Amino acid sequence: MWQKTEKDDLVYYTLPRWEERGARLVMTTRRGGVSEPPFDTLNLGLHVGDDAAAVVVNRERLLAAVGGDGERFVSAKQVHGREIRYVTAADGGRGFDDYGGAFDDTDGLYTDEKDVWLATFYADCLPLAVFHPEKKLLGLAHAGWKGTYRDIAGALIDAMSVDSAELWCAVGAGIGPCCYEVDEDFYRRFRERYDGADDWFRRAESGRPHFDNAAANVALLTRHGVRRENIDVLSACTCCREDLFFSYRRDQGRTGRHSLLGALI
Ligand SMILES: [Zn+2]
Repeated sequence: MWQKTEKDDLVYYTLPRWEERGARLVMTTRRGGVSEPPFDTLNLGLHVGDDAAAVVVNRERLLAAVGGDGERFVSAKQVHGREIRYVTAADGGRGFDDYGGAFDDTDGLYTDEKDVWLATFYADCLPLAVFHPEKKLLGLAHAGWKGTYRDIAGALIDAMSVDSAELWCAVGAGIGPCCYEVDEDFYRRFRERYDGADDWFRRAESGRPHFDNAAANVALLTRHGVRRENIDVLSACTCCREDLFFSYRRDQGRTGRHSLLGALI
């Protein structure tokens, strides 16, 4: 179960059960950084128009609190694709203080080396993590609706080539079905692609469909063989919780990024 942690001014969520088995997972919030509005305050995205120096301070502050540092940080330019990349300590520092240094066109990272800090960024999209507690493999992936439609969860599991029944998975905070109104075409596309996708939508009083991206990803993970009891979901809507999270939809595109970070320890 996700656990909220407050350390100095920082507020973030961790998974103690994972930590006991050798993986530290950190879902950040917007709290505890130095960025000015609309990036206040713990914006971790270098690509959103914030002052880069402030972002680096935020990243350093967070990593210091959770036991990492910039030289072991690895990030990618996320494009709502399906590319997963294996990374090692040799990739440390990629994209830490220079967005250009991040891996191109990549939405998932995994490693089997200790102390490599995988970092992914969000403002409504859904953070996913996969951990093999025996083989000590850790992967993260970014699932916006396009990633979900393309089954990035399956891509990550395939890339890690492990028995999915032995995997532990985590779903971080994304926009909830309370706020994620979509159009009928969106609804139709998912129904055409996936059996049972109807369960991933609810109808608002207006009659319009609302998408439950977390439910969709939990369903996809279980279809790939992950056991439901091994999936921890953080139930918090990024759009509702303005006090905790950035939201692309709520803030009409001009906002910061929170992060899902993880490392084998
Ligand atoms: Zn909401």
